[in-house]
Amino acid sequence: MKFDELGLSEKVLAAVQAAGYANPTPIQAQAIPPALQGRDILGIAQTGTGKTAAFTLPMLSRLEQGRARARVPRTLILEPTRELAAQVEESFAKYGVNHKLNVALLIGGVSFGDQETKIMRGADVLIATPGRLLDFFDRGKLLLTGIEILVIDEADRMLDMGFIPDIERVCKLVPFTRQTLFFSATMPPEITRLTEAFLHNPVRVEVARAATTASTIRQALVASHGHAEKRETLRKLIRGADNFKNAIIFCNRKRDVAILHRSLTKHGFSAGALHGDMDQLARMASLDAFKNGDVSLLVCSDVAARGLDIPDVSHVFNFDVPTHSEDYVHRIGRTGRAGRSGVAITIATEDDAKYVDQIQSLIGKAIEWEGPGFDELPPPLETPRPHEHRRGAKGDRAGRSERSRGERGRRAERGDHRQERVERIEAEGPVAKGPVAMGRPAHAPRRPEAPPPRARPTDERRDRRPRRHHEDDGPPVIGLGDHVPSFLLRPVTLRPAKVAEE
Ligand code: AMP
Repeated sequence: MKFDELGLSEKVLAAVQAAGYANPTPIQAQAIPPALQGRDILGIAQTGTGKTAAFTLPMLSRLEQGRARARVPRTLILEPTRELAAQVEESFAKYGVNHKLNVALLIGGVSFGDQETKIMRGADVLIATPGRLLDFFDRGKLLLTGIEILVIDEADRMLDMGFIPDIERVCKLVPFTRQTLFFSATMPPEITRLTEAFLHNPVRVEVARAATTASTIRQALVASHGHAEKRETLRKLIRGADNFKNAIIFCNRKRDVAILHRSLTKHGFSAGALHGDMDQLARMASLDAFKNGDVSLLVCSDVAARGLDIPDVSHVFNFDVPTHSEDYVHRIGRTGRAGRSGVAITIATEDDAKYVDQIQSLIGKAIEWEGPGFDELPPPLETPRPHEHRRGAKGDRAGRSERSRGERGRRAERGDHRQERVERIEAEGPVAKGPVAMGRPAHAPRRPEAPPPRARPTDERRDRRPRRHHEDDGPPVIGLGDHVPSFLLRPVTLRPAKVAEE
């Protein structure tokens, strides 16, 4: 099938040609004709399939008739993250070069003022994250009664991020007669319910299974012990990588993104960070620096990196094995895009066995191990993290001290490794200095590593709702945490109150 057989307008076809696309991708070939007829679409497709153009191109053709009015946008695209929203805006700039359309972006973390001006001018296309959109609506700065086309993109990610109540609210605020184009990589029951409630007789278009990984990606597993060793393993992998151009590195937790970023920078790598608690300017700056090649490593959390379209990423490293196997598919899909080859290496500890099995059964094949197995690794460093210490303290004291005695014995036999590893810990930064290097006992609690820079409150406010545990910030801080001012700790002597003499 050719682009000119899909029914797109001349202006859109010219832009597609300028973009250099020879033929429509399967999702485009199947979704564009019914979308142009005004049908609702249920598209089951992941990023990388060309789904953005599958909704952008028919929207542009349909928007050629009519004009937007102040405060009443004509079309609305909902995206789970600011980066995805900004990426869709770029697609409108690319495919809409021959159109004079007003495109407004409503995302958290940037000032209301500029966004309001664009809405007041009349937006043909409004691209928004749900939180900021509803803020605007609730302040009376926006009417949704003129929406002709509603696009809900990455619906399963919206579900993960707790946005579904917002989506339901938006679906009720837009006119009943609008056209809905709905895209999701997977169809969990909550998403099916949503489509049943808000799509009218949709055309279902399904492209590749979400569980498939591109054959252009070489996948491997590398055994490591935890934390400091994983950082060293990662550094070795980066230094030894063949055909290395750049890499996205995934951590399960935002806190670890900040720690790993700091460690890599300290070791002389040019690295940026991207996670949901960074303010918008910092997120955009990191992403731009990576896209422009100013930094060659980008350390990310899943939420921030999902769906990012960076065409030429040579390597993906999973610093942590993802605990949700579909995340593995999304993560490694950041490399090997558009027919290029890519490498995806996952660092796994012995505790990750369950998650590795789940991933392998999801993708339907075994991932090869590379390098020494767990048995051949040098013994782990005795630098338990606070939560590991707590876990041990819950009634396993005897077992743990047995283990650590045994471990100390083995370490004494291998005295040659010790000094090397102590130096390695010291190199990891302030946390590892001092007591660890001086041979602190294995059971002594280690000071928690410094937290990432404090995040400003963001407007992706639903990010604060219950999340999947791998995006958390670790155990909650109770009261003032470690920061109790000393005057509050001083003992207080209570004197009996003086009774007034009658
Ligand atoms: P998406 O799935 O929308 O994130 O698109 C993934 C990538 O495919 C983007 O870099 C697009 O520029 C590219 N793309 C979209 N449509 C086509 C096409 N018909 N032919 C070649 N590349 C395309």
